[in-house]
Amino acid sequence: MLLLGSLLVMLIKPYYRNDRIKTIDAISATMGSLLLNDDVRRNDIESAARTIIGNNVCVIIYNESGESIYYPPDSLGQLCMLDKQISVGEEVFTIKNEPLKMIELIKHENPLSLTINSPYADLEMLLYGKQVKANLANYYLILNTPLEPAESYIDFILNQYIYIAAIVIIIALIVALFLAKRISSPIVKMKNEANKLAQGDYDVRFKTNSFSEINDLASTLDDATEKLSKVNELRKDLVANVSHDIKTPLTMIQAYAEMIKDISGNDPKKRNEHLDVILQETEYLNKLVTDMSELSKLQSGVIEIRRGNFDLKECADNVVLLLSKIITEKNINLVLDFDDCVVYADEIKISQVIYNFLSNALKYSDADSKIIMRIRNYEDKVRVEVSDNGNGIAPEALPYIWDRYYKVDKNFNRSVNSTGLGLAIAKAILEAHKCRYGVTSKLGEGSTFWFELDKDYDEE
Ligand code: ADP
Repeated sequence: MLLLGSLLVMLIKPYYRNDRIKTIDAISATMGSLLLNDDVRRNDIESAARTIIGNNVCVIIYNESGESIYYPPDSLGQLCMLDKQISVGEEVFTIKNEPLKMIELIKHENPLSLTINSPYADLEMLLYGKQVKANLANYYLILNTPLEPAESYIDFILNQYIYIAAIVIIIALIVALFLAKRISSPIVKMKNEANKLAQGDYDVRFKTNSFSEINDLASTLDDATEKLSKVNELRKDLVANVSHDIKTPLTMIQAYAEMIKDISGNDPKKRNEHLDVILQETEYLNKLVTDMSELSKLQSGVIEIRRGNFDLKECADNVVLLLSKIITEKNINLVLDFDDCVVYADEIKISQVIYNFLSNALKYSDADSKIIMRIRNYEDKVRVEVSDNGNGIAPEALPYIWDRYYKVDKNFNRSVNSTGLGLAIAKAILEAHKCRYGVTSKLGEGSTFWFELDKDYDEE
């Protein structure tokens, strides 16, 4: 507002000056045309006079011999220079008393434009003279106007400006206060939530109903909190697991190693039996640690899904090959009922799911029983099924089997490598693929684990 005010004061004088010169030009043109027109009507003269009064201009028209032929009323009053002494170059005279001197000057320089100082006010005045030829005679048009606005005029504008500035400043203050409150209150709320988060409270919510940038920041912080909370859960799980699942095999390894040292060291048969237990436990530990790291990577999103086209049948055959030793050992009648099909998915991850399904079927099936693996190629999807005739799963346990570390039978012999993580890994992979998956099971009859892949494979 200050800048605008200074500009206003600085520009008002040049603007006014410009405006005056334009007005003088326009009026002199009107008067000139009145003189040239033979058929001048009273109305035209009156309207010219009105323009003169309304525009702070005084006018007089002389003929060649210095007689005033037209002297309309004006609003300049005291300020009009036509009846005041003026000095032009060497000459000092009053136009109305010695019009011929002025006519001489105009003849010398047509149009004549002079700037003189008013003796009545500290104002610059413009004196303008022009010769107009009409009806074979010469006429002299003399106009006079101030070139600067009167002090009262500037005061009036400044007063108006001060009122407007005060109103604008008050409105701006109100709007600024309102905006500052709207911007700062969600930030204060977010700061408080961040303090809680720093103290380990992961239930904080940053979301606010504020401007979109603050909302974006809030959702980023909410995402970060969610991830932190997941990491925290994984950390807790790990600690719980280390103290339970890992501690048991470690105790076994320690006990058997001590037994070999103190008792069976010299008895090859017993020593080998004890060494087998140690090997089995280390194998279990190895699998547990691998599964834990695999699952935590999948859940924290470190591993990304790398899709490509691959032959699902070939992939399932490879899994069967990997597990062929156990199949033979348990004398399982494995029926493979595979349709040919190519799918668009992450081959390694899908193999892992099939591996986990088949190894579970083998784990929880009795020796000499039958397992059927199916791959069905439908128009829009591919369905993979692994059915066993094992113990089945109780309906009340079914919702939990996909959870981490969940085992239906907590005392199930650990030698079968039961970590409780296989299905959780399968679930994480299938969900990352946005697959449908599930299980149907009947206690004592067996279970069928399945998943379905959409056939949105890449044509290239
Ligand atoms: P685990 O390493 O214990 O097999 P999983 O996550 O693979 O862990 O499976 C979780 C639980 O679901 C298992 O402990 C078992 O009780 C049950 N389960 C999984 N597959 C089968 C199956 N084919 N038959 C019977 N029970 C099963």
